[in-house]
Amino acid sequence: MKKIDLHIHTTFSDGSYTPKQILQTAKEIEFSTISITDHDCVDGYLSAKKLAKKYKIELIPGTEISCYYRDYDIHILAYFINPKNKELKNMLKFLQKGRTERAIKMVEKLNELGIDISMKQLYEESKNKNVISRAHFASVMLKNAQIKKYTDAFYNYIGNNCPAHIRKSTYSPSDVFRIIRQAGGLSVLAHPGIIKNDFVIPELVKLGLDGLEIFYPLHTFYQKDVYLELAKRYDLVITGGSDFHGKTRVDNRLGMMLLKENYLENLKTKWRMEKKSVSPLKKFLSN
Ligand code: AMP
Ligand code: MN
Ligand code: MN
Ligand code: MN
Repeated sequence: MKKIDLHIHTTFSDGSYTPKQILQTAKEIEFSTISITDHDCVDGYLSAKKLAKKYKIELIPGTEISCYYRDYDIHILAYFINPKNKELKNMLKFLQKGRTERAIKMVEKLNELGIDISMKQLYEESKNKNVISRAHFASVMLKNAQIKKYTDAFYNYIGNNCPAHIRKSTYSPSDVFRIIRQAGGLSVLAHPGIIKNDFVIPELVKLGLDGLEIFYPLHTFYQKDVYLELAKRYDLVITGGSDFHGKTRVDNRLGMMLLKENYLENLKTKWRMEKKSVSPLKKFLSN
């Protein structure tokens, strides 16, 4: 049986393993296929791409894009995207700049609340200076002994609806789907169970969603069944992965959630079909 994990973070966003460490570990546990899906960037994928052949691991191009829909924080996994696509690159640049601007505002809010934290510390914590995530805030606060547990940062300060939380600047879901498609990729709704409102799924399908991440560590058996049914009803591809972050999310272990090979094959088939349907002129103009 092939071992496949399509949701992994590296130090290029808020994971604690470098792409090389991911590949080494993936090799040790005999993975055949992985996707590095760092938040709002393709740098983790690009870095791993240089090494993947040596490790004899199939690497699916990926990223996890943040956006909002009806006030829900939703994450769109983009698979098979062309990282050189102009519109995709512009979107990632916008999202990354928005993350930095938001971090500056969150630092101000935390300072007002008496938490002594600085952009300098955040930059030291994040290897990729362009992708500052709330996970970096939590790590710095833990190092500064301003919280007892990592998750306290989210419960008390930076979680949604907490006093130092600021929303990110994002694109609308329909623009995200359009750009992913235009960059030759497929859009998959990450961890739908975390959104806790399944009515968004058919609405997102209308806007251009291609698939659901059903095999996810936090999903219950019941949720899996519901999502498998919805995937059938709306003709969606099915993916899965661990959402591995390394030391900051100890419950999401690498390889704890594997995707069966037939689902990966379906994903590839859908991707090839969609690729054929994009006109050569449009493709030329977008690259
Ligand atoms: P951001 O994309 O900057 O809003 O940060 C979100 C990231 O923070 C997620 O991708 C997780 O890595 C992390 N995160 C969010 N909520 C929690 C939580 N309750 N416990 C641990 N990590 C969390
Ligand atoms: Mn994360
Ligand atoms: Mn996510
Ligand atoms: Mn993720």
